[in-house]
Amino acid sequence: MDITRRGFLHLSGAVGSGIALSTLGINLKPTRAYADELNKMNRVKAAKQVTTICCYCSVGCGLVCSVDKMTGKIFNIEGDADHPINEGSLCAKGAGFFDLTEANKHRLTKVLYRAPMSDKWEEKDWDWTLKRIARLVKDTRDAGFVKTNAKGEVVNRCETIGHLGSSNVDNEECWLMSVKCRALGLVYIDHQARV
Ligand code: SF4
Repeated sequence: MDITRRGFLHLSGAVGSGIALSTLGINLKPTRAYADELNKMNRVKAAKQVTTICCYCSVGCGLVCSVDKMTGKIFNIEGDADHPINEGSLCAKGAGFFDLTEANKHRLTKVLYRAPMSDKWEEKDWDWTLKRIARLVKDTRDAGFVKTNAKGEVVNRCETIGHLGSSNVDNEECWLMSVKCRALGLVYIDHQARV
């Protein structure tokens, strides 16, 4: 309950009298969340607004990116209310757009590998990872490559690997993936957006 004058001024300067009340045992989480939201709204109002289009599917929803004028970094992305297609709304993928930026501290930045039968994740570098992927793809493809079908017709297809695309790849990445899959002879190719 004790609070020094200096401490009180410091706390009250942060979000008004709200935080000081927490020393009386009052739950101020909603107050803090509201203060954070107000702070964010003020930042959005003062930011440079840049419009763009969501890259994740052919609907092409409009987005507004708020860019901090001081740092040049985007700190908020939301649906564009003036856009004729989505009128401000976004699906879950589009609504989570900002979390895919570097601002998301929980974003995975390293390769994590769990060996067969292991219950532990290990950090791996990309050299190791790419060699491992290439080895597994080659071995699996060799084991299931079919040159001709039952009628003796040339088919050159791989029946032991399937590919399901991610929801977080854009149109150009999808094109690259499908070209890679077809070059390997895959026939079981699908994508989350179609499913
Ligand atoms: S992924 Fe969602 S937000 Fe993005 S364009 Fe498609 S419908 Fe719109």
